[in-house]
Amino acid sequence: MSNEWAILGFGRFVHYKDDLYRPLFAGLDNVQAEHALHSFHCLYAAATGNFAVVPDPESGPMLDYWRYDMIDFSSYTEYKLTNVPGLASLIGLHRYPNYDEKQILQGHVASVKGNWKYRQNGILAFAHSQPFWKLVQSYHSPARTTGEKEWDELLDKIREEGPNFDRGTLPCPSFAERMGCLSPMCPFAHDVEERRAIREAIIEDRRATLEKPPNRDQWVRKQLAPEFMKSPANMFSYLRNDPNPEKDKLMKEAKQIRRMCANSWCMAVQWKVVPKGREQATLRRCSGCGITYYCSSECQKTHWKRHKADPCVSVEEQLECDDYWSDEGRRIPLEEK
Ligand SMILES: [Zn+2]
Ligand SMILES: [Zn+2]
Ligand SMILES: [Zn+2]
Repeated sequence: MSNEWAILGFGRFVHYKDDLYRPLFAGLDNVQAEHALHSFHCLYAAATGNFAVVPDPESGPMLDYWRYDMIDFSSYTEYKLTNVPGLASLIGLHRYPNYDEKQILQGHVASVKGNWKYRQNGILAFAHSQPFWKLVQSYHSPARTTGEKEWDELLDKIREEGPNFDRGTLPCPSFAERMGCLSPMCPFAHDVEERRAIREAIIEDRRATLEKPPNRDQWVRKQLAPEFMKSPANMFSYLRNDPNPEKDKLMKEAKQIRRMCANSWCMAVQWKVVPKGREQATLRRCSGCGITYYCSSECQKTHWKRHKADPCVSVEEQLECDDYWSDEGRRIPLEEK
């Protein structure tokens, strides 16, 4: 194993080819190695079916959601699989016998595939997660599939090859982290090019999210607000999606919205083509983030209390800092944390 180790900071890999920084992380290499090994054996137990979901006697047999600490690994003897502290509260598993094929193939696969942590750090980093165990349960159910060809093949391969299974074919769960993998003896794959490409794809997805056009439905609702005020029935009719020529007309207009003042009391619009009877607003970008637009400094002031939680930091920082993004790729306002 080479002494070269990679640090992924702010979206870029940095390589340290000497041991200058190593003392700073003394002991962490063991923690990483232990975690990777534990995850690997979770995967192994999962593939070979050496686990059982046991009910929590306190909750009774009718409980719909089961936790990770209810997975009994006692039939797996290669390695002592224990519960990772703090994990039990995060994991809720569906009861196995209730699984039906349709449920498996929808939802869960998408929730795993769309998860940037999984994409970036690979299946080992994911082997303790709820979505992973849901897929594994479906792999061992009558459906006989995780719902995803790639994982079915991986799990089949692990079962076939047994102890000879090549760990080097699995991405190291720590390699793409900011600190990088600190263990010089790490048996898992350290593919810089592959990780870099994945990271870039994640950043591109985030950029698309940030550049998404303004919420046009919100503007339409605001135009209809006087109608809603007249009678709640108008509101319910709107929510039921009843035929409404006024709404259709507004939806058509809304297609021409390029930008909107972010102050929701204002929503002044900059149009691509100004519809008849509408005014063209001059909007200016917030200098803090360069993403949000305002029609006036009054609107910016009014909106600041909410906007500072957006958070109002540069695009580059928002793209690269993982703390601003949920696992599913949604931007998390600071107040939710
Ligand atoms: Zn590693
Ligand atoms: Zn801003
Ligand atoms: Zn405004």
